[in-house]
Amino acid sequence: MEKHHKFSIWYTLLGIWLVLILHNLLFSALAIRTIPYSEFLQLLKENNVTEVAITANQIQGKIKSNSATPGQGELFRTVRVDPELSKLLEEYNVTFKGEIESTFFKNLFSWLLPIIVFVGIWYFLMKRMTSQQPGFMMLGKNKAKIYMQDELDVTFEDVAGVDESKQELMEVIDFLKEPEKFTGLGGKMPKGVLLVGPPGTGKTLLAKAVAGESQVPFFSLSGSEFVEMFVGLGAARVRDLFIQAKQKAPCIIFIDELDALGKARGFGTMGGHDEREQTLNQLLVEMDGFDPKVGVILMAATNRPEILDPALLRPGRFDRQILVDRPDKQGREEILKVHLRNIKYEETLDISQIAAMTPGMVGADLANLVNEAALLAVRRNKQKVSMAEFEEAVERIVAGLEKKNRLINPNERKIVAYHELGHAIVALSLPGTDPVQKISIIPRGIAALGYTMQRPTEDRYLMKKTELLNRIATLLGGRASEEIIFQDISTGAHNDLSKATDIARSMVKEYGMSSEVGQVYFAPEKKSPFLDLGRRNGGEYSEATAEIIDKEVKEIISNQYSRALEILRANKDIIEKGAALLLEKEKIEGEELRALMDKFSS
Ligand code: ADP
Ligand code: MG
Ligand code: ZN
Repeated sequence: MEKHHKFSIWYTLLGIWLVLILHNLLFSALAIRTIPYSEFLQLLKENNVTEVAITANQIQGKIKSNSATPGQGELFRTVRVDPELSKLLEEYNVTFKGEIESTFFKNLFSWLLPIIVFVGIWYFLMKRMTSQQPGFMMLGKNKAKIYMQDELDVTFEDVAGVDESKQELMEVIDFLKEPEKFTGLGGKMPKGVLLVGPPGTGKTLLAKAVAGESQVPFFSLSGSEFVEMFVGLGAARVRDLFIQAKQKAPCIIFIDELDALGKARGFGTMGGHDEREQTLNQLLVEMDGFDPKVGVILMAATNRPEILDPALLRPGRFDRQILVDRPDKQGREEILKVHLRNIKYEETLDISQIAAMTPGMVGADLANLVNEAALLAVRRNKQKVSMAEFEEAVERIVAGLEKKNRLINPNERKIVAYHELGHAIVALSLPGTDPVQKISIIPRGIAALGYTMQRPTEDRYLMKKTELLNRIATLLGGRASEEIIFQDISTGAHNDLSKATDIARSMVKEYGMSSEVGQVYFAPEKKSPFLDLGRRNGGEYSEATAEIIDKEVKEIISNQYSRALEILRANKDIIEKGAALLLEKEKIEGEELRALMDKFSS
């Protein structure tokens, strides 16, 4: 693009040069010699001039051709000096005529040429500017890429390992396919669907697949594109986008990386953020203003839902959130199969083995892995990709990811597996604890290497003392399990310990559940983010009481830890079985674990 314009500029310059040359030629080609007036008089007196044409200030003439003077028949020009010329001319028999000087062509040139040059320069500058900055001529027009239905060949087939998210999106597709049918039945569509999940899990891909599956136009743009340099343009862009989308309904508007636009307002308003705020406000206005019945679905993706402005998540806006989580082993196997479609590989390739080698990897990592393995095969002059290339590619990628702290080594995975089983088995053994939903050792972010999900069966407003104690025991189960299995403990429990301690402290200080301290209430410590004043008890209780509180908290914790140890020692073989299963599958459902427990404890 750039190169092309440089060429054009050279062409214009060449053109201008040619015009100038032509201009010169036109006047000089006639070979009119300019001579001094004295020479003209000389020629005249020598009777060497045949004819002249006289204008107000110059004389053009022709030298006689039969004369002996040099330059015979030549045209000449001179500046007129003598006003009484006609007498002289008559005297020497020269035909003469007066002429009104025609300045038409001269004027034309002197006007036209600069105009042509300026128009030319302006034209090329404009062209350059618009080519470098699309939207220069149409400020405020949105830059959304519109993919028409036939350009989108992404379908649900191309997205694997996120079955739950796909399931939830099916409803959106059904709606887009037949909006009338849907609304006719009284169904109410969500206005906005927010895809939430770690980077590279396929959120953008899923949004495209929804458009591909439902065969509707897809307006796609990223949040940062909204935020413009010129104030007011982002808002104009949003308005324009919605107008366009309504004309094309049913269709999808997809805002990728919504967090760039939708960061909570009011933080760090040191100027310069107003533009983003205006744009966000406009988006909120548009979202409120449109009726989902017209068939426009707003989709967005983010990997940082926690920083989004709460207004975006209110009912009637992005009221449906879909989690696109890291894939488990089964999911990774399916994703690998998707990407292996375009690649020749040996039949002996063990895809499930590759999936087992890549815990913690997301779709983008796996796509990269397949690509890397294929490149290795090419470098080795192989016809087909084999396991050897995949092993090497995994090593390379893992080395890269380990730096980012996202993968855990096999040893750590084992510790995490036993730790999580500790939580789960204590929870399952104690009555009144929330049932275990699932256990997972798929690392999420940096903080949590694994998790045990418990879901309460009902909303709770009151907790009994025994329930709180059971909860503490469950929290301590992770560390207890590590101690039993490895005779060593890890730092992985620090979050559990903090939660358990909080509960115990509240029991003693706020709920009056300790006989030593009694039925008294001490306000919880207020933490100031700026001042570290050490231990504060706000003067509410004496140092002696503080000591008793500490002792009581410690006692609760250590009693519950002993309980957890006891439970787990009695169920050691279940821990072993469960951990093996978890290490293999990375995720077990609560049902499976209960079945395992029933089988072994009876
Ligand atoms: P995100 O938007 O969540 O950051 P993308 O959708 O941009 O991730 O994914 C990047 C690439 O990784 C995709 O183009 C695709 O090749 C691959 N990919 C990611 N997730 C999946 C998946 N679930 N199934 C198949 N391929 C995936
Ligand atoms: Mg994306
Ligand atoms: Zn834990």
